[in-house]
Amino acid sequence: MSPMTERVASAPFSGNQLDRLSARREDRAWIELQRQSASARFVVLADGKICVEGTAPERRLSTFPPGHLPPSAEGTPVVFLGCSELTSWFAISAAAGIDPELAGGFEELRPLALELPPEETGIAATARHLFEWHRRHRFCSQCGHETQATSAGWKRLCPSCAAEHFPRTDPAVIMLPVHGDRCLLGRGRSWPEGRMSALAGFMEPGESIEQACAREMREEAGVIATSVRYAGSQPWPFPSSLMIGLIAEVDDTPAQADLEEIAEVRWFTRDEAGRLLDGTHETVQGPTPLGIAHALLELWVNQAW
Ligand SMILES: [Zn+2]
Repeated sequence: MSPMTERVASAPFSGNQLDRLSARREDRAWIELQRQSASARFVVLADGKICVEGTAPERRLSTFPPGHLPPSAEGTPVVFLGCSELTSWFAISAAAGIDPELAGGFEELRPLALELPPEETGIAATARHLFEWHRRHRFCSQCGHETQATSAGWKRLCPSCAAEHFPRTDPAVIMLPVHGDRCLLGRGRSWPEGRMSALAGFMEPGESIEQACAREMREEAGVIATSVRYAGSQPWPFPSSLMIGLIAEVDDTPAQADLEEIAEVRWFTRDEAGRLLDGTHETVQGPTPLGIAHALLELWVNQAW
């Protein structure tokens, strides 16, 4: 679904436009019919990488028709991704040793995100998220027995205790604290000197989005939220996050990095933040266009917020 208003940030990986047809996933005969249809297209992953072709700016996902597919890795399902107007989309995870002639090239999804068309980046993100989940959740969390993929790749079933397991998505909050004409960015402890971005952290059980946002800002930067507003979201399939983008008004408590997760925090005026976005700031590199932090900053700088 496209952003509903200009006040919602739009970011890579959020452009999957397929009709997921989730109600058809249990209908094995229908899925099989789609899978064998001449118009079906398969995207192929291997070790978290995705098969692509062409060179920028003409990069596209490599898609394979049925009957011309490399063998799947043992124990991996064929995933039904959904339908576009004329095409049923599937994804497989290829076995090792795939014929390079057949494959095009496998590449990491992260850098590809700005080169593929947004709808294809979204499809690739969905497929990667699902295969990573299958890879990491082979055993039943209730009884330890090996589970089996079912429901066209959207569920795992335990044959021993009958537990059903669904793909997990881990919500994380990512926020831009603002006060008057300034916004606050931080540098993660492992980041190079001069690289700064929005603050972020995983949500915890029993927390609302607003509470998680306020907690992360207080813990990481010592600033106190006075209001928190939703500004858009971004699937982040490395391996299974959903980034919830927020812009948060904070009071005038002095900001201070926690020195555990965050090495340094700094206020930027709207003018300085604009220079972070276009890469002309003298000393600091801002968030890359890959993540929703860039879109949050853009919203605030353009006063589209
Ligand atoms: Zn079980």
